[in-house]
Amino acid sequence: MTTIEIDRASGFCFGVVNAIRKAEEELNKGGILYCLGDIVHNSREVDRLTSKGLIIIDREQFKRLHNAKVLLRAHGEPPETYTIARTNNIEIIDATCPVVLQLQKKIKTQHSDSDDSQIVIYGKIGHAEVNGLVGQTEGKAIVIEKAEDLSLIDFSRPVKLFSQTTKSLDGFREIVNLIQQKIAPGILFEYNDTICRQVANRIPNIRTFAAGHELIFFVSGQKSSNGKILFEECRKVNLNSHLISGSNDIDTSLLTNVQSIGICGATSTPSWLMEEVADTLRNYLKL
Ligand code: SF4
Repeated sequence: MTTIEIDRASGFCFGVVNAIRKAEEELNKGGILYCLGDIVHNSREVDRLTSKGLIIIDREQFKRLHNAKVLLRAHGEPPETYTIARTNNIEIIDATCPVVLQLQKKIKTQHSDSDDSQIVIYGKIGHAEVNGLVGQTEGKAIVIEKAEDLSLIDFSRPVKLFSQTTKSLDGFREIVNLIQQKIAPGILFEYNDTICRQVANRIPNIRTFAAGHELIFFVSGQKSSNGKILFEECRKVNLNSHLISGSNDIDTSLLTNVQSIGICGATSTPSWLMEEVADTLRNYLKL
């Protein structure tokens, strides 16, 4: 008989759980609650919350908003967002993850240290968290997505490196090594491993989980960068891993003669969605 197992270590990290709890608390009080950007990179969870009354707005809509209540998601925001809120009489429900908040403060302090250092952030250009971090440096931080971007750094000046919380440890170590090779003799290079272990620790766990099943359904929204990283880890150990956003994406031709199916997901994947996928599989396989 086919077995179906959900990876209990997959699903929301505490930062996202906290943001959703805050949103639900506010929605239960009644009134209108806006959220600046998707509260989580999972369209199904966003749909669930919008059906309860949450209104997702983009930055341009936020700038035009007055006298309203706006939730800031776990990724955090640049200082400009708080300035706009004060000017437009917007009440902020701040669900910035404490880990991101701490990183923002660290970067702000280092930037204010008025030495000649360049603040470098290893992260995805344009990602909300990265924008929030760059904002702590008045827009001056250099964002490095990949090795080729290192040409943006002046290696004759000190470098202080940080990482977006959801980047991979291997990628960060590679960037550290490359900077160490390029930095001019006697010039300061300080690196801060600011990768969140809520994500980094999932890599070894998910590898073990994916390797232990014949077929893997990795449930994640297309926009989740963490989802892309974790899915790749599944693929490395199990080529029969498939990225789906929900039950509708299940390719039933994969289910023939399979004895063990594993269901796992990103830090932005709600556990109810993984349960739904498991139920659909059980129904289809008549288990
Ligand atoms: S991954 Fe870590 S830093 Fe990012 S929201 Fe989750 S707990 Fe916070």
